[in-house]
Amino acid sequence: MTFETLGLNPSILKALTDAGYTKPTPVQEQAVPAAIQGKDLLVSSQTGSGKTAAFMLPSLHRLADAEPAAGGRTHNQELQAARARGERPRFRPAQPKMLVLTPTRELALQVTTNTDKYSINLRRIKAVSILGGMPYPKQMQLLSRNPEILVATPGRLIDHMESGKIDFSQLEILVLDEADRMLDMGFIDDIEKIVEATPATRQTMLFSATLDGVVGNMARRITKDPLVIQI
Ligand code: AMP
Repeated sequence: MTFETLGLNPSILKALTDAGYTKPTPVQEQAVPAAIQGKDLLVSSQTGSGKTAAFMLPSLHRLADAEPAAGGRTHNQELQAARARGERPRFRPAQPKMLVLTPTRELALQVTTNTDKYSINLRRIKAVSILGGMPYPKQMQLLSRNPEILVATPGRLIDHMESGKIDFSQLEILVLDEADRMLDMGFIDDIEKIVEATPATRQTMLFSATLDGVVGNMARRITKDPLVIQI
């Protein structure tokens, strides 16, 4: 099987060729075609299996297909336009289309780096990481660009959500990466709160080393008729 046969758009295919990827891994072969159709996924797979591309490639494909935001302007451009009109700029929360939750800062940064690589030919799509330990002014600056994709650890994300800096009403895709580790680290209440804040119509993809026990319960509660993939 090739990346072409998975149905990905040419801009993404070119980025994969440039990254030196020649063929999809087994988890990508199963996950990508279903996720492109908008299907929910429950995937048990390990780090190193190519799971990041398994959720990110179909998501980028879907986001690239969607209409640009009204006016196509970033929050920064709107702020500048308001200033130019002599108005006091109004604060607007970020309205991401996709959220990836990860247990650690390291994983979040890795996901963001890979996303930048896969989306290099998709000019409109930007990903930013929101992490514990990162200075707030820096994060506010990143959020003011109104990125399509947020990659975050749950605790810091909750801070921004509760202070009105992020609005999830436009969210289309939610990914829980290494969900079992997030639960082990005690993030269950944060995750529940975040999921609650997103539209019920979203697509949900959950990746975990195991789909048993607590993580399996949560997985089944937050997904709809998921495709289960065990690698
Ligand atoms: P992951 O399991 O997402 O952490 O990916 C493990 C590593 O494999 C990362 O360095 C990816 O860049 C790389 N990778 C993912 N998919 C492919 C592929 N189809 N071909 C070659 N390398 C890949």
